[in-house]
Amino acid sequence: MQTKLLRPTEDATALDYAGALLRDGEVVGIPTETVYGLAANALDPEAVARIFAAKGRPQDNPLIVHIAAIEDVNGIASEFPAEAQALAEAFWPGPLTIILPKQDRIPMVTSGGLNTVGIRFPSHPMAQAIIRAAGVPLAAPSANTSGRPSTTTAQHVMEDLDGKIAAVVDGGPCTVGVESTVVSLCGARPRLLRPGGISLEQLQSVLGTVEIDRALKEKIDDTETVSAPGMKYRHYAPKAPVTVVFGSPKESADYIYAQLGENSGVLCFDECAKRFSDRAIVETFGPSDDEAEQAREIFDALRRFDETTCTEIFAQCPPSSGIGLAVSNRIKKAAGFHVIDLTEGQA
Ligand code: AMP
Ligand code: MG
Repeated sequence: MQTKLLRPTEDATALDYAGALLRDGEVVGIPTETVYGLAANALDPEAVARIFAAKGRPQDNPLIVHIAAIEDVNGIASEFPAEAQALAEAFWPGPLTIILPKQDRIPMVTSGGLNTVGIRFPSHPMAQAIIRAAGVPLAAPSANTSGRPSTTTAQHVMEDLDGKIAAVVDGGPCTVGVESTVVSLCGARPRLLRPGGISLEQLQSVLGTVEIDRALKEKIDDTETVSAPGMKYRHYAPKAPVTVVFGSPKESADYIYAQLGENSGVLCFDECAKRFSDRAIVETFGPSDDEAEQAREIFDALRRFDETTCTEIFAQCPPSSGIGLAVSNRIKKAAGFHVIDLTEGQA
């Protein structure tokens, strides 16, 4: 299959064309504010099966359903409780996915066999225009080969999926850079399943107490049943194994410097790069005091290691406040939760 690269900034028909492909059951890479999505008609099991095939995604990993208006929830979820409405009012359109009980018209293949469904109203104008042009809700996981870092440019999507999908819509680099926050409202209390573009503190400001899923803190075995199936798989990982070194920028840089071997790679804050530049393959992901910039750069930096010859990677990591929680979660997942915590035992 020839994958078309569609450029709405140069071609006024591109978004309608993407919508028509999606209505016809094709799979299209689309820009969103978080990361690129791999979209298909969420109501059509055959179209959705093509997403799983293109990504090589495990069947039990559910897809998020994307809508272009808050009231569209009523055609997807079987309940739209007050807490969900409050979240939608506060953070939609935006990088928040809300898990609710699903209606029967959402096929089981879309929800990964669950009776619940993740719903998101993205803020990217092109994503909204494509959903409206398609005229159906769009199931869209991140547009990467399963296990690789998510994609934040149309070029990344082409790297992973050229020849496997009908088209990619180029909307430029993503402004958030990490995926949506996933919160479940299907249990006794709201539960954070994945940190993302909306911070835990923002969720708490609307919901009060929010439980934190265990999968955020530790590695979950592939055979275990978890609330967010996607969280148990090896994810975001470059080919070389990653070790996270957590501590202040100076402490972690000192520690990493002492570990460097022949073919080491270092994923570090901008200001630490020159320390390593003649001893290691260095990729930076933003200044240590700018977590929003780190979020925009992290996946691109992780991807760049795969074009190098390094055989091990040491990574610095921000603290877990604000969007730093999402950045540190992606880095720890890339490392399979192999973390050296230099702050342990410190008061
Ligand atoms: P991706 O779009 O590739 O970032 O993956 C979407 C992620 O959202 C999945 O891997 C799950 O962790 C989560 N998710 C989507 N739908 C549900 C659901 N119904 N229940 C729990 N988690 C979900
Ligand atoms: Mg993904």
